[in-house]
Amino acid sequence: MKSFIEYIVSIFKGVWTLLVGMKVTGKYVFTPWKHVTHKYPENRETLVMFERFRGEVIMPHDANNEHKCTGCGICELNCPNGSIEIISKSVVTPDGKKKRMIDQHIYHLGMCTLCNLCVKACPTGAIVMGQKFEHAVWDRSELTKVLNQPGSKISEGIKE
Ligand code: SF4
Ligand code: SF4
Repeated sequence: MKSFIEYIVSIFKGVWTLLVGMKVTGKYVFTPWKHVTHKYPENRETLVMFERFRGEVIMPHDANNEHKCTGCGICELNCPNGSIEIISKSVVTPDGKKKRMIDQHIYHLGMCTLCNLCVKACPTGAIVMGQKFEHAVWDRSELTKVLNQPGSKISEGIKE
């Protein structure tokens, strides 16, 4: 008789632990407006990542194709794993002076740990973290990018 009672008790315990385990699931079944999960990739067009998300390093350009990068190389120096290469060039200004400026800001996304150190170190705010997170490619060379766009130049007012 004792073992039969223990058997019944164990059944009730099992049902109880199952209900406790399903509590959160059950709550969301009856309150669908509180769902926090997204239907990805169906929502790809409308999906907005949270503000602090780090998807990749990007260099914003304005409507005049101008950026804020002086080519100083501080981001390159601060990157712990060599994901950034700054190639600068020498140009002659209208007043005949020579000055260095950015030629190519090369970014190796495939090596980047998204640590954000380069963004924090940039004195002009020329680079930021982008929201893109789908980076799968067939050829890994596509993960090496030039962040300054072709034909772009530095914004007036940025101290070089
Ligand atoms: S986020 Fe970090 S690892 Fe990536 S390029 Fe910047 S400093 Fe380097
Ligand atoms: S992105 Fe910023 S830190 Fe890097 S070279 Fe340009 S101005 Fe300098």
